[in-house]
Amino acid sequence: MTTIVWFRHDLRLADNPALLAACRRGGAVIPLFILDAVEPLGGAARWWLHQSLESLGRDCARLGAPLILRRGAPTDVLDQVIAETKADAVYWNRCYEPLRIARDSAIKTNLVSRHIDVQSFNGALLAEPWTVTTMTGNHYKVFTPYWRTLLGHAPFAAPVPAPASLPPAPSPLPSDMLAAWALEPASPDWAQGLRATWVAGEGAAALRLADFLDTDVADYPTARDRMDKDATSRLAPHLHWGEISPRQIWQAASMKADADPAAAQGVAAFQRQLGWRDFSAYLLFHWPHMATRAWKEEYENFPWQNNETHFRRWTKGETGYPVIDAAMRCLWETGTMHNRARMLVASFLIKHLLIDWRRGAEWFEDTLVDADVANNRAGWQWVAGSGADASPYFRIFNPVLQGEKFDPAGTFTRRWVPELAGLDDRFLHKPWCAPARALSEAGIRLGETYPMPLTDHDAARARALGALASMKKNQSTDELEDV
Ligand SMILES: Cc1cc2nc3c(=O)[nH]c(=O)nc-3n(C[C@H](O)[C@H](O)[C@H](O)COP(=O)(O)OP(=O)(O)OC[C@H]3O[C@@H](n4cnc5c(N)ncnc54)[C@H](O)[C@@H]3O)c2cc1C
Repeated sequence: MTTIVWFRHDLRLADNPALLAACRRGGAVIPLFILDAVEPLGGAARWWLHQSLESLGRDCARLGAPLILRRGAPTDVLDQVIAETKADAVYWNRCYEPLRIARDSAIKTNLVSRHIDVQSFNGALLAEPWTVTTMTGNHYKVFTPYWRTLLGHAPFAAPVPAPASLPPAPSPLPSDMLAAWALEPASPDWAQGLRATWVAGEGAAALRLADFLDTDVADYPTARDRMDKDATSRLAPHLHWGEISPRQIWQAASMKADADPAAAQGVAAFQRQLGWRDFSAYLLFHWPHMATRAWKEEYENFPWQNNETHFRRWTKGETGYPVIDAAMRCLWETGTMHNRARMLVASFLIKHLLIDWRRGAEWFEDTLVDADVANNRAGWQWVAGSGADASPYFRIFNPVLQGEKFDPAGTFTRRWVPELAGLDDRFLHKPWCAPARALSEAGIRLGETYPMPLTDHDAARARALGALASMKKNQSTDELEDV
């Protein structure tokens, strides 16, 4: 007996149900990763994948079977490896994005028709999308009732351990060299910031979780919105690539709460975020159009302006709003951005600049190490007001007030916008309001060393609300908020 374990977004050995089932089946186990030529991967994601495969390759080899790397259409590659190894089974952990579901279903039908044992497992979610329904069997559109029902599924299945060994194929199989895939940038090598920020792989993910639970989780409810603090888990890329499973995180966090009651509230708030992650996958599964079109159809008629110069300045962190620029430059350098900052820059692009949320989502998908179709598209549509359970469009973040509230001493902004570092706290988030003397003492010449704002907040807000009103003729202006 020979079982191929097709690794995808589950680049780990522990709590990997497909891998464990293959080992329990007996016979040889062939760990296989396929670089799908047609699946788009952003630059930062490619960099992460290289590191993660290197780590998984080491771990597989340690247990006895090398990780086989192949490039091509998964259906062709699986056929080749089945022919080379006479494998009689193919196991994998399920993916939930529409294109991957279609691909996997077609592959399964084909293999089963050839009497290959195909089995798939849940290695990525707390609860799979079809298991969470309303009393009447419908799908939730709002998070809170979804979350209550999801909690009803707890305790979630306990994580399963890594196998003790991986029995290899009797004779060695050809494998691509990871370096030949050129996932890492070469010239120019723009990945120094990623290397300085991250360590990918299953071992690093476990250490990250342990560190977060030891030091930060207790303060998570109060500190998680602060852009100047390192108060969140930073597990998103590890979760996206499946270097750690949500069940492992859930269980470790629950054990922390049991051992340390002072951390219980923080653990609950943190676990709720895992609920949002499951909810995003749930929404995409039940409403696949969410990846490309507004979840609320009427938003497809929104009058976008899509000014290219404005878009470019947003990507480069040259909007003239310090907190927005800090967040965009941080993204470029480190491949990540704080959740609050993601909301602010998304709101700025959509509402201040009237640029289609899809442009922003694509930029995030190219630059984030945790770029994830479900979380990203749900996040953008949440901000745009077009998503399920979304923030209303008329709630327009004020980048000055938000900067003052969530980066009060300006530590985050000064780090990423050093040309403003010398400016007094009172003006840091609105340098155009600073007296000439404060600017010159800080060495700032607005419009030269740091840009003037791309747009005036009040005017942009009025224009955004006008655009919304033109889409929804009877929008009530009583509901306007400046937050
Ligand atoms: C416009 C926009 C785009 C986003 N794009 C992505 C993306 O591509 N990939 C991604 O993983 N997250 C995305 N998010 C959600 C969120 O910003 C990140 O998951 C979070 O910042 C990651 O940091 P962390 O791991 O320290 O999170 P923590 O606060 O420690 O949360 C723990 C985990 O919960 C999950 N999570 C947290 N917040 C959310 C959320 N709002 N929605 C769904 N899951 C959540 C993540 O897996 C995260 O790692 C986006 C949010 C917005 C507003």
